[in-house]
Amino acid sequence: MRLSDLLHEARIAAASVADAAGDLVNPTVRLGVTGLSGAGKTVFITALVNALVQGGRLPLFRAAAEGRLAAAGLAPQPDDAVPRFAVEDHLAALVERREWPQSTRRIAELRVVLDYQPAGFWGRQLGRSRLTLDIVDYPGEWLLDLGLLEKSYAEWSAETVDASRRGARASLAAKFHAALAAASPAGQATEADAAALATAFTAYLRAARTARHALSALPPGRFLMPGDLESSPMLTFAPLDLAADAVAARGSLQAMMERRYGAYVEHVVRPFFRDHFARLDRQIVLVDVLATLNAGADAVADLEAALGDVLTAFRHGRSGWLSGLWRPEVDRLLFAATKADHLHHTSHDRLEAILARLVARARHRAEGAGAAVDVVALAAVRATREGTAERGGETLPVIVGTPAAGETVAGERYDGEEEVAIFPGDLPADPEVALRPGGYRAGMDAADADLRFVRFRPPAVAPAPDGAVRLPHIRLDRALQFLVGDKLA
Ligand code: GDP
Repeated sequence: MRLSDLLHEARIAAASVADAAGDLVNPTVRLGVTGLSGAGKTVFITALVNALVQGGRLPLFRAAAEGRLAAAGLAPQPDDAVPRFAVEDHLAALVERREWPQSTRRIAELRVVLDYQPAGFWGRQLGRSRLTLDIVDYPGEWLLDLGLLEKSYAEWSAETVDASRRGARASLAAKFHAALAAASPAGQATEADAAALATAFTAYLRAARTARHALSALPPGRFLMPGDLESSPMLTFAPLDLAADAVAARGSLQAMMERRYGAYVEHVVRPFFRDHFARLDRQIVLVDVLATLNAGADAVADLEAALGDVLTAFRHGRSGWLSGLWRPEVDRLLFAATKADHLHHTSHDRLEAILARLVARARHRAEGAGAAVDVVALAAVRATREGTAERGGETLPVIVGTPAAGETVAGERYDGEEEVAIFPGDLPADPEVALRPGGYRAGMDAADADLRFVRFRPPAVAPAPDGAVRLPHIRLDRALQFLVGDKLA
């Protein structure tokens, strides 16, 4: 271990000691909410805060179900330098306009304070207690950058170029490959060459992330989710096609790229882990499993690899280069398949089983390191209801929702007001079958399969007699119980 690493760790330790001292007076849980863009982070946090503050229906969240949750409210967040999660705006979009809120673009934070009555005889004698919940919303793209901390530029380059030549990626990367072929790593570095390569590389990453391909493992994370680094020169680099023993000559394009990669790792990746990730106590990773299944085998393989990388991040926290000095170890880790309201309830357990299968190997490792890991299928905001429809003399389970304005279903364009009943198809009972190429759609006719990408509007929610607006959900209470239930016991 190098001295700089030790100093770096010492700083983390100092920050952690300060966190720990405050914890004795006022127990605090820092809950990380992450997932790739579009996974459902913004909707999840908004729904979670709404359920806590407005007293939503949460039968599996014990403190609420047992009537011990006395009050929940927002409070000023502890970190002044981090933007606040705009929960009021997001809730207004959902409830007043029936629009999905603006998705996560960068890190944001929100503090919720829960006053509760502890359970049990002694708990009741003690009177009310308070738990502070700090919710930290951050792009999953940034989490996947952890792997870069251990890779040299040459290693990262070789891996990234190699991956871009495989499977679905190859055709998406055609322009990037042309730019690579035109570049001369040993030649004189020019800003124009660097910019051209970075632009082609970023375009390839973006194309791989679209719904049709839904690939997951696409670092560096800031190329897709730049946060406040939008158009920063820090992002003007790309991998190069290098010979195994190529040494970067002074002033060469390779040397320039190497330096910028190094700067990205030191000044972007490392501080994020030190200042934010390393301080989390609990973590939920949201995954749009259905979008991945819809996109096909390449997307599934990619997601599995990305989830493995995520687990590596947590394992590192426990036993890798931060061993011992990492005070607030993530001791609970929840993987959640989102948007379960796109399926009939008979498939919810199956969705859960598929995600469980995708994280199985990684989960084993995390549990070995002492963290509790669980998997849930949920809809933070339920946009559909269930029904049945007759087709060819058969009664089929369907879901009913309002397609967003402009969505096309079976050749018909929807206006955002009219409802439609959709047969969503059952997920296979065996996760292995679902994950096989074509497994999810096997047995569906083409018209049904085409409905996979329909986006529904959020539901119309009328205020309850007490004036509270409570968003409908699926299994949000189960997620809450796992994430913070024990702290309210
Ligand atoms: P983020 O990028 O992770 O912040 O993702 P968002 O929370 O903004 O969600 C992206 C999109 O997924 C939303 O605009 C919705 O269209 C959809 N979505 C998210 N959560 C749900 C859900 O619980 N149910 C349904 N039907 N759609 C959802």
